[in-house]
Amino acid sequence: MSLTIYNTLTRKKELFEPVTPGKVGIYVCGPTVYKPSHIGHAVGPVIFDAIKRYLVYRGYDVKWVVNITDVEDKLIAEAKKQGTTSAELAKRVTEDYLQAMAKLNVTGIDEMPKASENIDGIIGIIERLIEKGHAYASGGDVYFDVAKDGDYGKLSNRSFDEQSGQRELQSGEKRNSGDFALWKAAKPEEPEEVKFDSPWGKGRPGWHIECSVMSMRYLGETFDIHGGGLDLVFPHHENEIAQSECATGKLFAKYWMHNGLTTFNTKKVAKSDTSEEMQNALKSLTLHVMLDNYPGEVVRYLILSTHYRRPIECSPEEIDSKRKGLSSFYRFFERIERACEVSAYDDASLNEKITDNDLAASCEECLKRFEVAMDDDFNTAGAIATMFELVPKLNRFMDERKVDAGANESAKADALAAARRLVAIGRLIGLFVEPQETTAGGDDLTDQVMQVLMEVRQHVRKNKDFATADLIRDRLKDVGITLEDRPEGTIWRVE
Ligand SMILES: [Zn+2]
Repeated sequence: MSLTIYNTLTRKKELFEPVTPGKVGIYVCGPTVYKPSHIGHAVGPVIFDAIKRYLVYRGYDVKWVVNITDVEDKLIAEAKKQGTTSAELAKRVTEDYLQAMAKLNVTGIDEMPKASENIDGIIGIIERLIEKGHAYASGGDVYFDVAKDGDYGKLSNRSFDEQSGQRELQSGEKRNSGDFALWKAAKPEEPEEVKFDSPWGKGRPGWHIECSVMSMRYLGETFDIHGGGLDLVFPHHENEIAQSECATGKLFAKYWMHNGLTTFNTKKVAKSDTSEEMQNALKSLTLHVMLDNYPGEVVRYLILSTHYRRPIECSPEEIDSKRKGLSSFYRFFERIERACEVSAYDDASLNEKITDNDLAASCEECLKRFEVAMDDDFNTAGAIATMFELVPKLNRFMDERKVDAGANESAKADALAAARRLVAIGRLIGLFVEPQETTAGGDDLTDQVMQVLMEVRQHVRKNKDFATADLIRDRLKDVGITLEDRPEGTIWRVE
């Protein structure tokens, strides 16, 4: 096994070697809980939930920490606007976030520390930085002195030429424009609840230092993987590295993983007949409205169908195409249940015994290719594509052995075993946890007829009968249906 991870710090794929053999510590920057979660908040958790599941499958003992930023400028301003307290707003938004995570089957988070509960640790590390000459108090504020850190800029690949000044500072003034706040003095108009006691007077921590303290508290001074959205590379993660490494003198996080951001294609929405509520939800990318309209598994599948470093396109059309992709799995599992009177979801296992050699080989190949994709910087899109390719093979086995019509018991048992293996493979990235409705929002019969046509077309193409394949595509186009061949399979769309 050789698992590789693209490390933002070195800008290349590296062999994954944890700090402590057999153990993996992961920290992912969580939400600032001041407004309802949007789809962007789901991307990191879904990806790292899949990554954790895969690492556990690979035999690692994984601890995953996601913080809750409940002390921050935006939260204070929004609470004031709503006429409530920061604590009440943070509690409400955190609940909304956790509900969404449950719907997305994000279950692997081990610790969710809150900034407000880690003030002592934050003050401790700031004192260490001041002692070592890396930070200085100015008025009631404390700043990190970027000019005293020769490594500053190594993550975001920037260079800084500021010089640390020796002159007397005015109260609250910074030595260099790039210096950032570790501690912010309380302002008179701010509510008492966000004023914490410190050696520098009442105030509150800066955002960056919160993450340094919470990650090291649970994972140690050097840990394996630090993740977050691409928009956090600078300044947030650069500053986390600077503070942490200057305080401890040790490497902070070994691998830095950054996920792509969500994009929203308004052009596609204009053509779509999706409900107005849904369009607005997508424009603001509000997660809970999306999750009211689509099953969590569809949104999870949407996120995992794109490699995590690429942007995730979010449009009703894209979600519909993912839903259709998932339907071919669901239809197959339903077929198994009808034929075998047992659900493939029950007792799913990678070790199900299959007597038919070809069928067993197809399942083994699928798992092998799934592992190759995941070992290559957690390529969930490639992993999903291998599962997608297995479905027609399993359907063909059922056709040929007449499993639906009550074939011999061994063919039936083989089909069920193969289906259980497929469910178990999906579960390695948190899919197929429980049976889903296949007809949600769609016309099931049309879907099924299209599935038949696409299978016929795939069959004739395999036999190099491209004329018939083109005829099917062109005739469908005549009635307004477009076929699109993608790596994960063919999808169809009504124009
Ligand atoms: Zn952070």
